[in-house]
Amino acid sequence: IKTILLKHRPEGKPTVSDFEFTTEDKDTELTLQDGEVLLEAVYVSVDPYLRGRMSDAKSYVPPFELNQPIQSGVVAKVLDSKNDSFKKGDFVSGMLDWKTQQVSNAEGLTKVDPSKAPLSAYLGILGMTGLTAFTGLTEIGKPKEGETIVVSGAAGAVGSVVGQIAKIYGLHVIGIAGTDEKVDLLQSKFGFDAGINYNTTEDMAAAIAAAAPNGVDIYFDNVGGPISDAVLVNINQFARIIICGAISVYNNTEAPKSLSVQPFLVKNSALMQGFIVSNYAAKFPEAISQLATWLAEDKLTYSETIVKGFDNIPNAFIDLFEGKNKGKMIVEI
Ligand code: NDP
Repeated sequence: IKTILLKHRPEGKPTVSDFEFTTEDKDTELTLQDGEVLLEAVYVSVDPYLRGRMSDAKSYVPPFELNQPIQSGVVAKVLDSKNDSFKKGDFVSGMLDWKTQQVSNAEGLTKVDPSKAPLSAYLGILGMTGLTAFTGLTEIGKPKEGETIVVSGAAGAVGSVVGQIAKIYGLHVIGIAGTDEKVDLLQSKFGFDAGINYNTTEDMAAAIAAAAPNGVDIYFDNVGGPISDAVLVNINQFARIIICGAISVYNNTEAPKSLSVQPFLVKNSALMQGFIVSNYAAKFPEAISQLATWLAEDKLTYSETIVKGFDNIPNAFIDLFEGKNKGKMIVEI
């Protein structure tokens, strides 16, 4: 049984040496108490927000403890069960340790059905990713037909879903991503109207203005930093700005800088709102059912970058900060 622990709190960009691998003898019998299940990890999700939990700064979830296993979304197979809700052979998803096998008290586990969708999808479009895209866009963005939306981190897990949902609502959709290949994918696979490569575009504000001749009504922000400044100088009156994430600054070591785009918010009476997907738990059943319906109707599609092997979990996580993924980054155990 292998486990990955947090060894050091990363300074700046995480490195493999921030993690420690341990191996226990498989013969150590994992005995179950009533209510418990024995699980074997099948797919492990790596997510940018885990970076925040690796620091000890105060946040909406407590930091990971040093020398303890990292946790993230995992799809696992039930190897043994003393819980009436789960039987041997079932698949479940939940927040679990980075461990090849573990005993869980089954709290927070949801049964997932491999006949309805590939198991990995329950970590992406039918999991936190899809829920984040759907609730952020609909609850804060309040999209209206004919409006223009810009999505940053657009070829990533959340961004690619946001853009597609916005198309379903009849918006003009512009995506920002880091390579030409990703920009092509935005248009050819996800149906965006336009894409901008922030790594090769010199004047981002001008490129956004050109792609959004009617201005920007909604900005779904996954990255923060200078990309967001370039979007915000193009917002319309009563624009809605959804602060979903800020991956471009997660590894910063210096103190935050002040926003110099506030005047654009003031003069446009714009709303900028941060959000955490778990605030919208009451909406999850409706959101999942809607996402599953759109998937079945081929109105939504998704990409995954699947990395193989438990030992590669830290590398897959670190690669998120290099943009190595297209769509959801997942590790297959
Ligand atoms: P992604 O699949 O989007 O992966 C991260 C992507 O970020 C990379 O592929 C890369 O794409 C881009 N990126 C990395 N570094 C930079 C940089 N310096 N500047 C600009 N882009 C960069 O991850 P997720 O979809 O899982 O998450 C997207 C965002 O949403 C994150 O900020 C995450 O923290 C946030 N989030 C928030 C939630 C909430 O409840 N608020 C829930 C889930 C996610 P590229 O090649 O285009 O640079």
